[in-house]
Amino acid sequence: MQAAGRFVVLAACVALTAGAQARAQTGTALPMKHAPARTQTAITPADLMTRLYLYSDDSMMGRLAGSEYNLKATAYIASEVKRMGLQPAGDSGGYFQNVPLVKRQLDPSASFSVDGTAFRTWDEFVPRDPGRATRPFDGAQVTYGGVWPDSTIISADQAAGKFIVLGAHNGPNVPPPQQVNRAAILGRYRAAAGIAVVALETLPPQAITFFRQAQTILRDAPEPTDTISLPVYVYVSAAGARALLGVPLDSVKVGAAGKTVHGAVSFVEIPAPARNVVAILPGSDAKLKGEYVAIGAHNDHVGFDQTPVDHDSIRAFNDAVRKLKLASPNHRVTPNQVQQIRVNVDSLHRLHPARRDSIYNGADDDGSGTTSVLEIAEAFAGARGSAKPKRSIIFVWHTGEELGLFGSRYFTDHPTVTRDSIVAQLNMDMVGRGRADDENGGGPGYLELVGTRRLSTELGDLIETVNKARKQPFTFDYQFDATGHPEQYYCRSDHYMYARYGIPIAFFTTGNHRDYHQVTDEPEYIDYDKLAHVSQFVYDVATAVANLDHRVVVDKPKPDPHGNCVQ
Ligand SMILES: [Zn+2]
Repeated sequence: MQAAGRFVVLAACVALTAGAQARAQTGTALPMKHAPARTQTAITPADLMTRLYLYSDDSMMGRLAGSEYNLKATAYIASEVKRMGLQPAGDSGGYFQNVPLVKRQLDPSASFSVDGTAFRTWDEFVPRDPGRATRPFDGAQVTYGGVWPDSTIISADQAAGKFIVLGAHNGPNVPPPQQVNRAAILGRYRAAAGIAVVALETLPPQAITFFRQAQTILRDAPEPTDTISLPVYVYVSAAGARALLGVPLDSVKVGAAGKTVHGAVSFVEIPAPARNVVAILPGSDAKLKGEYVAIGAHNDHVGFDQTPVDHDSIRAFNDAVRKLKLASPNHRVTPNQVQQIRVNVDSLHRLHPARRDSIYNGADDDGSGTTSVLEIAEAFAGARGSAKPKRSIIFVWHTGEELGLFGSRYFTDHPTVTRDSIVAQLNMDMVGRGRADDENGGGPGYLELVGTRRLSTELGDLIETVNKARKQPFTFDYQFDATGHPEQYYCRSDHYMYARYGIPIAFFTTGNHRDYHQVTDEPEYIDYDKLAHVSQFVYDVATAVANLDHRVVVDKPKPDPHGNCVQ
C-alpha cells in the first residue's frame, strides 16, 4: 500500500536512533530462507511460501519501480503466467505493458550567482522542482518583496520579470497561515523571473535530502499546462539574501532593487524502467468471454536505501509502537511515548549478532498480493469443465503503486482490453497478516474489506454470500471503508484507479502492521494459511462474478475519473 505521508519511513528511523533500544524477542517460527518446491494447480500454503520467499528475496532488492529490480520481479511473474499457458495481454503481443516513468532531478549544470560569486547548490541555495519547465532568469533584477504573507508584500505586477526575495516568519510557533506556502507564493508571483525565500536556516536536513532525490513520476501524454513555465523557486539563507539585495534584510525597504542574478536552474527527466504484467484466461462462454473480471495486486515495493538498520532493534521498537496503537486506536502515538520505549539490544544480541538490513523486501506489501494473484491464476489455468469461469479473467500486476498508483493509472487510462468490458476489479494489497498482534480483532478469520459497495451494492452482497458458503467464513472488518476515514484506504491502492472509471471494485487486505514499509516486512512473518484462505476466497468471488448471467449492477454514482479521490 502507498504511504500516507512521504516521511513515514524516515520518521520511524529517526525515532529509533533518538530513543529506542531493542528488547529481546522470541525467535520466529519460520526460517529466513526457504527452498522452492514445484507448485501445483490448487491454491496451497506451500505454493504461496515457495512463491513469496522467491519474490521477496534480497536478490529482488525491494522491486522499486523505475529500477532494474522492477524488471527482474516482473520477469518472474511473466515467466510463471507463460508456464501456466495464460494469454499475453500487454503491449505488442507480450505479457508486459511498459509504463512511462521518468526520474526528474535538478540539471547537474544548474547555477545561481550574484556579483560573480556562485551559490553552492543544496548548501547556499535549495531549488524546488515545480514539476514542469522553469523560466530563464539570467540577468534578472533582484527586488525585495517583503515578508510573506504580510499585507505590505509587493503586488504581482511589481514582481513581474523580477527575481524577488521574500522574507519569512521563521520559528517553531508560527501559525500555519503565516508559514511559507510555496503554492500560494507561486500562485501570486507567477509572472516573476524567480523567487528566493529566506528560510534555508529552518529547513530540516531530511527535507533537503528529500528535495535532492530524483522524483519518479508518470510521464504520460504531457498536460497542456506543461507548456507554461513557472518562475524558479529557491530557498536561500539570510546571508544569501544579503548578497542578492546588497544590504542586510532588516535594513531593506519593500520594493527596493537589489543586484542582478545570473545562472540557470532547470530539471531534467530520465526514462525509468517499469512495467505492468497483464495476462488473460479466456472465459468458457461464447457470449460472456468478451467481458472480464480483473484481479490485481502491485508488483513493486520501495527498494533499498544506504542506511542499514538492525532488523531486531527496529522490529522490537515498532512492535512496542504497534502495541500502543492497538491499545488506543484513536490516539496518535506521541513523541513522548516513543521516547519511553526502551528495549535492550544487548540481551537480544547475546542470542545472535546484529542483522543489519537495508532492503525493503515487501513480503506482505505487496508480495502477498502478487503471489496470491499468481496462485489464483494457476488455479484458474488448471480449471476443467464446469469449473472454468464463463467470463474471461484478466490478471494485472501493477507497477509503481508505491510511487503514486502509476501502473494502475496507466493501465486504466490505456487498457489493453476495452475498459467497459471490465465488469469488476478485485484488488489485493497486503493480505498475509492480520494476526491478533497485528490488528484488534485479528486472527485466522480476520479480513478487511474496502469499497465493495461503493459502486455496486450487488458486488458487496455477492461477496457476503460467497463468504457465508465457506466452511470457515471470514469476519469482515469494514471500518476502513467508512466515508472520510483518515487512513484513506479507498484512495491508497490500485483499485481506486478502476473505481474512478465506474468499475465496481473490492479491496481485500489483512491490514496495517508493525512491519509496514520497514526492512522487517519479511516472508518469515507471513501467515501462509491465512494467505491461502484469502486467495481461495478471492478465487471464489471472481468465479461468482464471472458466472453471473448479468454484469454486477452499478447502482451508485461514479466518481470523476480525473478528479481527486474521496475516501
Ligand atoms: Zn506499500
